Amino acid sequence: MPKEFFKELSDHKTPPTYKYFDGEAWKVSLSGKTSDIISPIDGKVLGKVQQVTFVEIDRAIERAKKAQEEWARVPMIKRTKPLHLAADWIREHEKFLTRLLIQEIGKTYEEAKDEILRSADMIDHFCHEALHLAGEELSGDAFPGYDQTKMAIVERVPLGVVVAISPFNYPVNLSVSKIVPALLTGNTCVFKPPTYGSISAVHLTEIFRIAGVPDGVLVTITGEGSTIGDYLVTHKEIAMVTYTGSSEVGRSIATKIGMIPLLFECGGNNPALVLPDTDLDATSTEIVKGAFSYSGQRCTAIKYVLGLKPTIQELVPLVIKKTKTMMRIGNPKDERNNFGPVITENAAHEIEKRILEAKAHGAKIVLGGKRDGLFVEPTILTDVKPTMEIVQRETFGPVVSFLEVKSIDEALSIINASEYGLQASIFTKDEGTGIRLAQKIGVGTVQVNSKPQRGPDHFPFLGVKGSGIGVQGIRYSLEAMTRFRSIVLNSPK
Ligand code: NAP
Repeated sequence: MPKEFFKELSDHKTPPTYKYFDGEAWKVSLSGKTSDIISPIDGKVLGKVQQVTFVEIDRAIERAKKAQEEWARVPMIKRTKPLHLAADWIREHEKFLTRLLIQEIGKTYEEAKDEILRSADMIDHFCHEALHLAGEELSGDAFPGYDQTKMAIVERVPLGVVVAISPFNYPVNLSVSKIVPALLTGNTCVFKPPTYGSISAVHLTEIFRIAGVPDGVLVTITGEGSTIGDYLVTHKEIAMVTYTGSSEVGRSIATKIGMIPLLFECGGNNPALVLPDTDLDATSTEIVKGAFSYSGQRCTAIKYVLGLKPTIQELVPLVIKKTKTMMRIGNPKDERNNFGPVITENAAHEIEKRILEAKAHGAKIVLGGKRDGLFVEPTILTDVKPTMEIVQRETFGPVVSFLEVKSIDEALSIINASEYGLQASIFTKDEGTGIRLAQKIGVGTVQVNSKPQRGPDHFPFLGVKGSGIGVQGIRYSLEAMTRFRSIVLNSPK
């Protein structure tokens, strides 16, 4: 039973106070401080999480460092065993974890369930791929002046202690996508979950522990990023930081971290370019899903749509109509609803402010625009100009803007002028044109005839410019969490 399974995690009061995991045991922090996790659905305190101290971070990192050498010696096939088991436990507790995620971050039923099951599948896929991770052997004779008496054995070796920081919108999936490749490649991991999402994340940690991840190999510390984040990422004993979150925080921490590898997935402000030949009916469906799933709180959400005037004029009424029919706003605990609240009052306020600013600068609100507490209506703006803040900065909520352009070249230059570079969509019946235009867009991934999205998870996933550093995706993440060690063999003279 989940309650029995997760019995060590909290004091089981109402609301429960959760502990942090120091690598060996669940502990109450010496700080005596906790953070309230408030459900965005009803404003009730769902639980409290520990705010760890710097001393506790030191001890956690020390423990992870000590455990790393031995963990790196565990054969790869054996490292996969507890992780496969963790995937099975996640599936076993899917209903419980789905409900928890709905309560904690306001995801709708389908979205939450998908996150949980996809995380289990991702773990298994990581384990399979890790078995094929290999270095290489090179012969000197490929370069002028050398022959076969010189060769290099290029091994892939772990980095050491990897710090993993995940965002609130996928607290399970984007934690798994960091912890699991780190562990499989022989690193140990200090995991700092998002404050909103910590409750789901401590449950995930417990699953790894019960599945047999050894002491010290995974440590989970909770606390507010603004308080402990800088201390953690600048700690001298860490070997890598893998972070997903906003570009603002990403930029700030990237400038403080020293000379260690960084794997960063940051904000997205993703455009969709709609060509005149497009099937507008199908495209409008993709735009609605792309803009409003999880109330627009996805790094891969569509944030603005560009097209020639006749295209936009025909498209907007279709998108309005589809939004009204497809989006069922309401309490996400009711499985019939597919559009819930945003994460916090601050977030709702910021989204509302951005909408009103756009309006003040000449944009028209043709649908939505209002909010009731944390429920922000799906909002469609037209007459939007590329200089407006709503186009310049990621608005992490359910707002999509429509921009009329005079030419496709103008659309490309607006897209390429962006500070962000996560994904872009091109909608056209002509796949050749889609490819040609995709090659002119400076983002990590261009989707032809689909909304932006992460996955399937073995595809590379990356942001350029303000949207990230490095590449994630099953094999890419595993590789990123290793370094090369080159041993050059020279035949005895
Ligand atoms: P956020 O506020 O930037 O926080 C992200 C993570 O960083 C959280 O765990 C946060 O902890 C932590 N943090 C905050 N300040 C820190 C500091 N000084 N040092 C170290 N860590 C610190 O982002 P969010 O609101 O959780 O997530 C939404 C953002 O993530 C959006 O911009 C979205 O586009 C982006 N995102 C990107 C991707 C991608 O793959 N590109 C995927 C998902 C989300 P606390 O929660 O305790 O503050």
